[in-house]
Amino acid sequence: MLLAMASETEKAHALLQSFSTASVISSLGLGFFCFVADRLLQFSVIQQNDWLRALSDNTVHGVVGFWSWAIVIGLKKKSDFTEVILAGFLSSVIDVDHFVLAGSLSLQAALTLPRRPFLHCSTVIPLVCLTLKFIMHLFKLKDSWCFLPWMLFISWTSHHVRDGIRHGLWICPFGKTAPLPYWLYVAITASLPHLCSFIMYLTGTRELMATKHGMRIDV
Ligand SMILES: [Zn+2]
Repeated sequence: MLLAMASETEKAHALLQSFSTASVISSLGLGFFCFVADRLLQFSVIQQNDWLRALSDNTVHGVVGFWSWAIVIGLKKKSDFTEVILAGFLSSVIDVDHFVLAGSLSLQAALTLPRRPFLHCSTVIPLVCLTLKFIMHLFKLKDSWCFLPWMLFISWTSHHVRDGIRHGLWICPFGKTAPLPYWLYVAITASLPHLCSFIMYLTGTRELMATKHGMRIDV
């Protein structure tokens, strides 16, 4: 009974942590960053140059992924930077599929594709995350790498939602939604880290991560 009470207290604590003042302020900052970055990308000096536009747009994807994961883990130690950089990388790297589908490094070819490239299908996100979780379970990697499916989820979802302002969400094989309203994109991006933290707590991933981070301190 005492144990059960302790675990309830821990759960309440973990829940409060996913909505801590610092994390809420950080996600409001993330929403503000999206707004400012998207305004800056409208400048004609960026819009008139295809490479500059593509690179700056991709950088914003990366920063959103980086920032989102920083909110999830709280960014307390230097070593946490490796994780947030990985999250930023995962968020940016999926645009490579434009070039894969084009079969060329030509930006012109990558921007004028007959259809959207495969990593931009939102159905791929739960499929890859669940497959990754299954593989980790199979190879007993779940303790040290337990965060990876969640990192992938948050990085790719934020990318898809941001692309969704222009193209809608592509839920293959069912088709695509209308372009997402701008406010919805900002709201989803700012609340995704909290939703992710909350689900991670419910599935016990946060406790595993806490153990891992604790071990890092011991070393
Ligand atoms: Zn994209």
